[in-house]
Amino acid sequence: MMTGQKVTIHKFGGSCLRDKESFAKTLSIMKKFMDTPSIAVLSAFRGITDKLIGVMELALEDEMKALNKCKDLQLFHEDIAKKTIQDEALVQDAISFSRDSFKLVATTVHEIFTGGLPRNMRDYVVSFGERLSSYLFSCFLKAEGLNAQFFPGDALITTSSDFGSALPLMGETSGKVLRTVKPALDQGTIPIVAGFYGEDINREITTLGRGGTDFTATILANVLSSVLDPVVMFWKDVDGLLTANPNIEENAMLITQVSYDEAKELAYFGSKVLHPLCLSMTMEKNIPVEIRNFNKDLDAPFTQISGYMKENIDVVKAIACIEKCVMVTVQGAALVSLPGIAAKIFDLLAKHGVNILFISQASSENNITFVVNEQGGPVAVKRLQESEFFGKTGDTHWIDVFQEDVSLIAVVGHGMAKKYGISGQVFTALGNAGVNVRAIAQGSSELNISILISPDDLKAAIHAIHEKFSLHQPK
Ligand code: ASP
Ligand code: MG
Repeated sequence: MMTGQKVTIHKFGGSCLRDKESFAKTLSIMKKFMDTPSIAVLSAFRGITDKLIGVMELALEDEMKALNKCKDLQLFHEDIAKKTIQDEALVQDAISFSRDSFKLVATTVHEIFTGGLPRNMRDYVVSFGERLSSYLFSCFLKAEGLNAQFFPGDALITTSSDFGSALPLMGETSGKVLRTVKPALDQGTIPIVAGFYGEDINREITTLGRGGTDFTATILANVLSSVLDPVVMFWKDVDGLLTANPNIEENAMLITQVSYDEAKELAYFGSKVLHPLCLSMTMEKNIPVEIRNFNKDLDAPFTQISGYMKENIDVVKAIACIEKCVMVTVQGAALVSLPGIAAKIFDLLAKHGVNILFISQASSENNITFVVNEQGGPVAVKRLQESEFFGKTGDTHWIDVFQEDVSLIAVVGHGMAKKYGISGQVFTALGNAGVNVRAIAQGSSELNISILISPDDLKAAIHAIHEKFSLHQPK
């Protein structure tokens, strides 16, 4: 729904909030877009989430050492406050917030040492990273004369109780956001929101998964779109989405316009530029999303993600890749006639937390091939080989399981759908470049052709497709 009243939701990650200079840059960004109301959603300061996890792990073994680490983290936050906030009373305000927060963390350290570390306690402790960065940043903005107001994540977002990767309950969340953030915006206040966490219906702190601050920004946008026209700006340390990984393909170009669907295929795969669920939140309400480079000039080109599609031109838009992954093959003539094999394999892997990136089965049913990340490979093979069904426990051994290192490339573009000959061109380009294709999968959306090749061929393969579809030429 277009309401005619804009709001800009900035998301700033840890690398935007390092020191005096980066705080100043963040402020200049906010000022540049101040002709419309704005909101800032913040991650923890760089590395703090990992350090808080480290404190908890240490607390399981050594309470004193963990408390010392807490003290270091407290001093780190106080130091940033002193260096960036230009008003003594607000520095003191930030420092006492940090002290109070670390008192709570210290209490938890003791509980962990004596009673272990349940999942919900993890979420509670890591949430302090975002709480602190956002509170400090709101003090910084106030000292710069802006009318900023801190909003803790739990005050706005209600989630499921899936600690560590909770999902928002949109009804509850909407009620909270519209009751608090909307009136603040109406009064000319700039809400500074702690990203990454919320609370469940029992008011326990939950987190939205690593990188979850992106998700917080788009959850707010989704809710606010009922009363305002939001745009979400992700400030990252990359220019945006590119036609290929620039470390592999030297002619890689910035993509300035991309559809939600294409971005979904590109934004997380390999490069992990955005939290995977963000684009579902914005696509649902047709909210424009921008990925911009924090380190560049504010007028530098960027990627805009929207519902807009140029099917004629965007036959192939980009090539995403995962440089190193493991292809596991389960093979044997016995597979042909046995129903439920795939279910058995994937059930076993799910039980051991192995995530699947790619699946393919030829219609001869002689083998099933799947791809997992580097860590998952050995786990998958070991679990399959040790299992009663696939293992070598019986008298006769019918099924083989083996693994190989591969690279996975995904050729992405809207215009591939319902058009013939595109995959032909992809494979001709690969053939001409002397690249041997190991396995192929295409999603039925026809948006993505995924191809497995040897890691030695990666550069040649990407280059061949990049050239074939002229991805180096500005469109
Ligand atoms: N601080 C959290 C993390 O490191 C969330 C985020 O950065 O978005 O995963
Ligand atoms: Mg992050």
